[in-house]
Amino acid sequence: MTEPSESLADLLRPVKHVLLDFDGPVCSVFAGFSAPDVAESLRQALADLGWQAAAGGSVETDPLALLRQVAEVRPDLVPAADQRLTLLETEAVRSGRPNREGEAVLRACADSGRSVSIVSNNATAAIESYVEAHSLGRYVARVIGRAPGDPSSMKPSPRLLLEAIQAEGGGLADSVFVGDAVRDVEAGLAASIGTIGYANKPGKRERLTGAGAVEVVDSMGAIAEALMG
Ligand SMILES: [Mg+2]
Repeated sequence: MTEPSESLADLLRPVKHVLLDFDGPVCSVFAGFSAPDVAESLRQALADLGWQAAAGGSVETDPLALLRQVAEVRPDLVPAADQRLTLLETEAVRSGRPNREGEAVLRACADSGRSVSIVSNNATAAIESYVEAHSLGRYVARVIGRAPGDPSSMKPSPRLLLEAIQAEGGGLADSVFVGDAVRDVEAGLAASIGTIGYANKPGKRERLTGAGAVEVVDSMGAIAEALMG
């Protein structure tokens, strides 16, 4: 364990700005209101608006992927779909499961003089309601969720990451991103910043490494420790 945590500490030493994905690193958004149930609720709302799922296609259980699908097939429904999904996500975070070690990363950033931006494909309003409910506002400089009504802003697009870096006024070299999905690593590469992969499920270490993560950790606690080192 010594060697990886040392290289993680080396990686983090020059970092002044930590960008954190939300679902996974900070909170399991759909721990109580499951992603398939949210997708189903969204599908019902869409059906009321005249959406017809492709016949014979498999049922999309990832609500964010469903939003992308709407953008491809019925762009006219995107504003309403995004609004509805935002409400569902806001409901979901109420029963989301906090990542206590992720909270330790927030505190370690504050204690070590680093700023934190949350950069997520989830809706800004939902994330902000979670941050407020869990009294995390003092640790979070800004929340940048998907651009409302524009699912193309979502990672793997680098757009949200670049927005965060620009808002911070920092450089690419003193920023790092932490995410738990391959699309996070891809977004980091496209934005030219390093991504630390958070492998919170079996098999993710290999996938995140393969995608080009600069480091992969099994727990957010390892990052908190390295930030304080
Ligand atoms: Mg995530």
